[in-house]
Amino acid sequence: MSRFQKIARGALATALIWSSLLLTAQADSNVKAPISLGELLSQNSKYLHSHGAEYYADFKDAQNPGVTLLSCSDSRAHSTSFFNDPINRVFAVRNIGNQIHNNFGSVDYGVHHLYTPLLLVMGHTHCGAVQAAMQNYASESFAIVREVDHLAIPLRGILQEASQPHDAELLWARAVEHNVDYQVEMARRRYADAIAAGKLNVVGAVSDISNAYGAGYGQLVIVNLNGEKDLTRLRLHRLVADVPEALRQQAIRRLKP
Ligand SMILES: [Zn+2]
Repeated sequence: MSRFQKIARGALATALIWSSLLLTAQADSNVKAPISLGELLSQNSKYLHSHGAEYYADFKDAQNPGVTLLSCSDSRAHSTSFFNDPINRVFAVRNIGNQIHNNFGSVDYGVHHLYTPLLLVMGHTHCGAVQAAMQNYASESFAIVREVDHLAIPLRGILQEASQPHDAELLWARAVEHNVDYQVEMARRRYADAIAAGKLNVVGAVSDISNAYGAGYGQLVIVNLNGEKDLTRLRLHRLVADVPEALRQQAIRRLKP
């Protein structure tokens, strides 16, 4: 078997595994809803009792969030890992792979209408969308293919590395980081005027659900500040000047290229 045939066979095998995983997830959800409507309404009743009119008084007429969050839709990566209560604080835009191309309008709304001073692009380790983009996802629906297609540009270099012997876990994490860098770069170009005027900062982060960065499971790792990717300069960046040294060392990291 030629080297090309081996690579092709490997890609086909991983594509089949990916497809079967998706199909299994769909099949399971048809058999048993993981959250019943009874549980949902009961949880909401508890919420009503612990909040009420007083809680909503300040913002029932208009929202005033401090951050526009562009994150992956993945159920394991939420803003609740850094805000106990994201209501009226986080304007959230979510899609598979935390991609700005797929939701320019929603991100524009956060930046240009809600004037959030921070745009936080948050990827996460073990991202299925990034993994799919590294493999053959042609068998997915047209809509999914169209969304994942946008990940091809940031992952171009990674795909070349994937054809050589590599540490799959590390490469996957690096692909996530590459994607965050790319989305930050696209945001910097789109909102260059707001950034130049000092009205917006774009921050790239990874919610590390697999502890790939070694700072702990669930660490929000800052990897990019307004396009800055050098670790030494990141830790000295003006945006983190008020962050204690120990926390800077822990939370600001980059994977080794
Ligand atoms: Zn994801």
